Amino acid sequence: MIDIKENSRLCSVCPNMCRDFCSVAGATRHEADSPKHKGAFVKEVIDEKNSLDAAMVDYFYRCAMCKACREACETDLDTSELVLSARTGVKGDLIPSKLGAVRENIVSGNMYADELSDLKSLLKPHLAKGKAHTLLYFGRKLRCEGLAAITGILSLLDKLNAEYSVMETEPDTGQLAYFLGFAEDARALAETCNREIEALHPQTLVVFSADDLRMIKKEFTGPGLSQTIPVIQSVPEFLLELINKMKPAFKDTTEKVSYHDSCALGRELRVFEAPRELIRNVPGVTLVEMAFNRDQAPCCGYGMGLDITHPEIKAKMAARLRIMAMQTGATTLVTGCPVCSIVLNAAAVTDMSDQNSGGIEIIDIAQFLERRLIV
Ligand code: SF4
Ligand code: SF4
Repeated sequence: MIDIKENSRLCSVCPNMCRDFCSVAGATRHEADSPKHKGAFVKEVIDEKNSLDAAMVDYFYRCAMCKACREACETDLDTSELVLSARTGVKGDLIPSKLGAVRENIVSGNMYADELSDLKSLLKPHLAKGKAHTLLYFGRKLRCEGLAAITGILSLLDKLNAEYSVMETEPDTGQLAYFLGFAEDARALAETCNREIEALHPQTLVVFSADDLRMIKKEFTGPGLSQTIPVIQSVPEFLLELINKMKPAFKDTTEKVSYHDSCALGRELRVFEAPRELIRNVPGVTLVEMAFNRDQAPCCGYGMGLDITHPEIKAKMAARLRIMAMQTGATTLVTGCPVCSIVLNAAAVTDMSDQNSGGIEIIDIAQFLERRLIV
């Protein structure tokens, strides 16, 4: 457990190394958005040299909690932990107005409007009945916006004759509430989620959304699923084991492919090599890395509520990342987390058009493999 007071004192005021790693500061070009300044705001509040006001609170929500700045900092200052503690301390009228309604929707389970209408029939043949040996968990964002991603992974698993189950309705892991600073709501949601998943006695839980996986594996501090489920995996880890076992054939193709490390899957959960190994499994593929990758990979912009509080910053971050991918010369950008694909596909790139670069397709790892599999 990180000591927030101690952490807030770690900045040695180096030449602002963290700023260049911060996707938010890169997108806005505001010095006050740099991790160093956000950390200084939190320190002022902790040291009671300044009290919270609306402008300061706004800066706490201009952070994707991606932890890229920690990688740059020689003293290991973790700005995202400072920001999280600051968000948790924001109460009453200082809670940004947009978040009041969001909080109600999170607690009532209505966060991203209704689930996709086609989802029910897609999931029906695979619903868990009683016990589920291998259980897939998609996450709310995907169940509402990720039909292609869910269709892709189910089709891939069916072609590989994999056995798996899904839930008719999924409980919320509490990740969004947690990162927005609603700690008590998050804990209640996480406990309900744990109970409902544990009731199915899975031996393996495969979590599609990287932020939900981060919540389950790293952020929930109680006696959670990590204690009761033998294996909790990301989709790339699960698929790599499956493909190594089944050894399916893939179409021979000549293409340049790049890979985006999601903040949660990469920096936080250290899943760097499994997706790259899966991509290299396809004959004829050349994997080309972006200028910033692995620990230094930028955030796509979805991070931890930024898409709700500051969608304009999210859009710029996604566009910058998309341009970085296009600069590799790749025709396909693969993501380990399908939420990143959804965000990046929605990004409008105006200063370097897809046409000029020959276009880039952005898909998650399951869809990438499914389309290249020889049935
Ligand atoms: S956690 Fe990410 S978005 Fe937040 S200050 Fe650090 S680099 Fe910037
Ligand atoms: S990299 Fe670390 S020491 Fe340097 S300015 Fe940023 S927080 Fe301070």
